[in-house]
Amino acid sequence: MDNSKGILFIVSAPSGAGKTTLVKRILKEFPDIVFSVSATTRKKRLDEKEGEDYFFITEEDFRRNIKKNEFAEWEKFYDYYYGTFKKYLDENLRKGKNVLLEIDVKGALNIKKKYPAAVLIFIMPPNFEELKQRLKNRQTEDEIDYQKRIKRAELELSQKDKFDYFVHNLEIDSAVADLKSLIEKKMKEKE
Ligand code: 5GP
Repeated sequence: MDNSKGILFIVSAPSGAGKTTLVKRILKEFPDIVFSVSATTRKKRLDEKEGEDYFFITEEDFRRNIKKNEFAEWEKFYDYYYGTFKKYLDENLRKGKNVLLEIDVKGALNIKKKYPAAVLIFIMPPNFEELKQRLKNRQTEDEIDYQKRIKRAELELSQKDKFDYFVHNLEIDSAVADLKSLIEKKMKEKE
């Protein structure tokens, strides 16, 4: 049931659209917004921190959390699992905190079914060629992962019209400014 006092912001984009950088900048601008840290079974990247970027858990632990109904939603994304903790989300929203989720497109659409007041924001990459280049430059994934991410990005782009708002990430500073004013607008509406 969606009896939240806080606002749930969901930021989604095809992998490589620059949303992680964007989200980090936004969280600095809004220190009161709570970032919902997901669980994942994928390997930790060098620049990531346990409990800050993700809770990096084993597949066995992930399955246990599914069984115990701990997730508001979860997805198998490529070969890895990703899930949003329900308790963390509900407790913060009930307390009146605004919460930000950075999850994949399918997960975002699933959350919207359970939390209809959620604000769905789609980060548009400049264009598909650039997206491919960004994924290639990242060099954190091997070739098979890369191909899977490209396929997934195509699929995710095709779902963009189901979102409430778009932010074009042509240039990071203006994307941050656009997302910031959208969040401010939504907060004002709620006052
Ligand atoms: P990455 O492995 O690049 O950190 O994330 C891959 C994808 O999983 C991204 O689109 C990211 O937004 C998404 N993701 C992260 N956490 C969650 C989650 O809890 N649920 C879902 N459905 N997707 C998530």
